[in-house]
Amino acid sequence: MLQLLALLCQNAVEALNRGSASPRNLPDVTFESSQSPAKPTGQICVVCMEKLTSPTTTPCGHIFCWNCITEWAQNEERCPICREAVVACRLVPLRNYS
Ligand SMILES: [Zn+2]
Ligand SMILES: [Zn+2]
Repeated sequence: MLQLLALLCQNAVEALNRGSASPRNLPDVTFESSQSPAKPTGQICVVCMEKLTSPTTTPCGHIFCWNCITEWAQNEERCPICREAVVACRLVPLRNYS
């Protein structure tokens, strides 16, 4: 029994060692290649296809104009992008968002 315990212990230690042995310095520098598109500076609202005015986020994390999404939510309580349920009272206007 003691032997089994010791074996389990050893396995756990080995697992831990394996975990910490994973590379810490991930090569995240390679992700900065030109392959990935640059982050858009001015976000576009998919409802009106214009630059966001009074950016407002849905519970699913998508951003629309305040006017667009409130109007949209009156007709269809689903996100125009991912079809998650969108309730008008759950919309969050983003302040100081540029
Ligand atoms: Zn809009
Ligand atoms: Zn969404």
